[in-house]
Amino acid sequence: MKVKSIELKVSAYNKTQYPNDGLKQIAVIGRSNVGKSSFINAIVNRNNFARVSQKPGKTQGINFYIVNNTFYLVDLPGYGYAEVSKELKKQWSINIETYLNTSAYLVGAIMLVDIRHKPTDDDVLMVNYLKNRNINFQVVATKSDKLKRYEMQMSLKVISDTLSVDKEKIIPFSSLKKAGVDDVYTYLDSIVEA
Ligand code: GDP
Repeated sequence: MKVKSIELKVSAYNKTQYPNDGLKQIAVIGRSNVGKSSFINAIVNRNNFARVSQKPGKTQGINFYIVNNTFYLVDLPGYGYAEVSKELKKQWSINIETYLNTSAYLVGAIMLVDIRHKPTDDDVLMVNYLKNRNINFQVVATKSDKLKRYEMQMSLKVISDTLSVDKEKIIPFSSLKKAGVDDVYTYLDSIVEA
C-alpha cells in the first residue's frame, strides 16, 4: 500500500453523519495520549494531518479520513482521558460505542496500546468487544523507540498476556523512527483487498 491521497471526509457527531457510500472502514482505536494522532500522521506520511496532543476539553467527533479514494480510516476519540468530567467521558463512550455498534462498513480495526504500559481495563474491554463482534483487528504497540530491544520483548509479552493476543502478531511501532509502518500497510492491504 502507498498512501497517495487522504482527506477528511467528515467529522461525525451522530450516526446520520457516518459515510454511507459502501467503502470499507478501518477504525483506529486507543486511549487518549497513546500516540494515535502521531500514528495516523506517520502512516499517511504527513507531519500534521491529524493533530498531535490536542487536549480534549470538549466532545470530539469521529473523523472519517478517506484514503486513496478506496477506504476510510476512522479516527475514534481517545478514551480514558482522566481530566474530563464524568458527563463528557460518558458522552465519549456513547459516541465510540454507537459507531462500533452501528457501522455496517466496519471491517477492520487498529488497536493502539503504549508499548511501555500494561493495557488498561478499557483496552481489554475494547479488544473483547472487537473479538465478540468478530471484527478483524491488529494490535499496534506505540512509542517503541522508548524501549531497548530486550525491554520491548518483555513489554510485548505483558501486552500479549493482558489482551490475549498472539505476541508475534503485535506490531511494535514508532512514529518518531517510522518503525512498523510497512507492517501496518500489510495489515491495511489485507483488509482492503479482502
Ligand atoms: P493521541 O492523544 O493518542 O493522539 O497522542 P499524540 O499523537 O498526540 O501523542 C501523545 C504524546 O506522545 C506526544 O507528546 C507525542 O509526541 C508522543 N509520541 C507519540 N508517538 C510517539 C513515538 O512513536 N515516539 C515517541 N518517543 N513519542 C511519541
